[in-house]
Formats: sequence, C-alpha cells, structure tokens
Amino acid sequence: MPPGDPSGEAERRLARDAEAWLPAPDRDARALILAFLREVEDAGADPIAELRDGTRRWFGARAAAALPAPRRELSQADSDTIALEPLSPARQPTMWPQRPKRLTDEIFSSWLWRTAVTAGVPPYRFARDVLGTPGDDVDRDVAPATLRRLAQLSGQTFEHLAGGTLSETVIVTQETPAGLTEDALLRDGRFLLNGEKADRLGRPRPVLQYCPRCLETDARPHFRRGWRFAHAVVCVDHGCRLHDRCWVCRGAIMPLTSRVVDARLRCPACDAQLGGAPLVDATRARPRQRALHAMLFYLAARIAPDERRLHLDTLSGCLSNRATTSIVQRERSLLGLHAAAPNSWFGQPIRAEHAVPLHMLSMGVMFDRLAKTVAQRQRRARIRSTGGHPPPDVLTTGPDQPVAIR
Ligand SMILES: [Zn+2]
Ligand SMILES: [Zn+2]
Repeated sequence: MPPGDPSGEAERRLARDAEAWLPAPDRDARALILAFLREVEDAGADPIAELRDGTRRWFGARAAAALPAPRRELSQADSDTIALEPLSPARQPTMWPQRPKRLTDEIFSSWLWRTAVTAGVPPYRFARDVLGTPGDDVDRDVAPATLRRLAQLSGQTFEHLAGGTLSETVIVTQETPAGLTEDALLRDGRFLLNGEKADRLGRPRPVLQYCPRCLETDARPHFRRGWRFAHAVVCVDHGCRLHDRCWVCRGAIMPLTSRVVDARLRCPACDAQLGGAPLVDATRARPRQRALHAMLFYLAARIAPDERRLHLDTLSGCLSNRATTSIVQRERSLLGLHAAAPNSWFGQPIRAEHAVPLHMLSMGVMFDRLAKTVAQRQRRARIRSTGGHPPPDVLTTGPDQPVAIR
C-alpha cells in the first residue's frame, strides 16, 4: 500500500476510476491499468484528467465511446434567427497538480508548508488561500470541512491528514505509537505548548520546537507533531536538546508565516536556516526522555482512560510544563525524574499489574522487550519461591542495559 494511504482509500478510489474508465474483465489487464493510474498520480498529475486527454489523443474519433456522453448541442435556438451553442463547462481540477502526502510523524502545518513550497508559492499566501483566514494556531483550529477538502485536493485520506492536527474535536486512529501517546496527552490538555500568553517581553511564546540535526538530515525536512508537547525536550535520535526559538533572532517558529519558497526550513522573521542551529548536548537527559516516551506510550496503550489522570497529574507537576516554562527548565525537570522511583513522578498505578512494567520502563527497558522481561522476572520469582538459586536483579541485566539508578 502506498505511503500516505494507510487505509487504502486512495487506492480503492483509483480502482473505481480504473473500472469506470477502462473496464476490463481480465484480472492482469485490470492490474496494469491500475498501475498506470497510480504511476500518473505518483508523478503529481490527475490520472483521470490525463486519461481523458490521452483517450482523445490516442483514439481520435473512436475515443467518443470511452468518454462521457456529450452534452446535447443546440444547432438552432428556439429563436429562429440566432444559432446558440452552450459553452462547455470548464473542467474543474479534482486535485492539485503537486501534492506531497503528510509524513506519518508530520504536523499538519508542516505538511501545508511543504505543499506550498512544492507548488512554488510563498507559504503565508498559500495558507491564506486554502484556509481563508488562518487562525493563530492552524494545527489546533483547522475545521473538519477544510481538512476534508484539502485531503481530497491532495489525494490522501481524511484520517491520514487529520492525524497531523492537534484538534480536540477531530478524533482519528493514529498510525504510530508516538501519535497514540500524543493523542492521550492532547485529551489531557495540559501538555500541549500554546502561545495564548505573550512572554514578559511581549513576544509570542514558542509553541513549535525542533531538532536541528533532524531538519538537517531529513530527506524531506519537516516539523514533527510530537515537537508541540511540553514533555518533549530532547531528540532521542541525536542526543541534543530541542530548540524552541530561532537560534539567531529568538523569534517563535511559525512555518506558515514564511514568505520564502525554500525546501529548507527557515526562520520566518530573519531567514536563518533552522538546520544550522548549534547542537546543545543532552546526553545525560536522553535516557530519561526515552524512558518517559516509553512510559507515556504504555499509559496510552495499556492504562484505562479513567486511570490516566492520576499519572498525568503527578507528571505535569514534576515537569513544570506550564506554557511559561522554557525548554531549559523543562530539561532540568526531566533530569530530576529518578529512574528507580517512578511513583514519585509518574504516580502510583491504581491497578497493581501496571507497577512492574512501569518500573521497568523507567529503568530503561525498551517497550517492545517489556513482555519478555516481565516473563523473565516471573520465572526468576518462581525459582526463588522453590528454593532455587537467588536470581540476579532482572532490572540490571539483559540486553536492554538500563540507565544507572540515581
Ligand atoms: Zn533529531
Ligand atoms: Zn530568526
């Protein structure tokens, strides 16, 4: 299934178009026609418009049979003097000629920015044209009807495009563990960075963070949806602290205010390349960030919604994730989340079954190794209860070397 079409809706639409335009009983022929339409669409063109034009070009007069019935033409008007002929209606394009799909971890406004750049239009103007009057926070405020229209114009599903927004009213199934975690935090409401209050210098508060190394090494530079959340402080891939402002002019990053058509992400105010920002080493905080991501994913995937509040209350208090908290302060808070005592900052779970997994994740066990590690622990507990050799502490052994207990 092509990327950007996880539910297969675009593929089914193409199949319907293929069947309507070039019906073929032969299974192989149908597959070839579908592959052709897909190829045209991947090249950025509207396959049906191409097919309509191509049919005329290839088959000349015989194309009539394959084309929709022509409109009834009036050779002579009811008036007995003037012949009238109705104009053919202008063909409405069904899709944009260039239409990059939203990447699975990409935030909606970043996708809109990339689409503008691909079309060669300054992003601020493109956003104004397609959104009307964009609000202060497009990712939160975009209306479902607008999303539907943009999804259709860009040849991707509504669900996939809506998955990049931060809307509290549009709920779709997320495609990645990170997306699932972000949705749980979004529903809680306290972890989303927002610019509702200006800082003491009267500047807009930063809401969109970025990792310079990610932007520099991306095949398609883009902002991640996860960078809008207060618990995200460190890039776990690159071990550096995220930036929350332009590294040159200290302005907040708002990609859809950019007037520059450039595939590299730049500060809309001073034009500095964000990928060139200096890296701030965060090696010490990286394991804590990784553990926190894993615990929050566990919360989203395994803990019942009515039991999550307890954990998020404790965490939000410890992370001081208010809108006024700078990323430097939040990194300090992250370093204070002691691996060996998760209850003190992640809360004590209501159901006892969650205590051991959360403790292991806090100690650095990877989420996908969790089930195996729990089984090992239970096996060792059984050996202990039957008088076997005393087991080593499961949390300090095994392939997922945990972070040091502090
Ligand atoms: Zn990075
Ligand atoms: Zn700047």
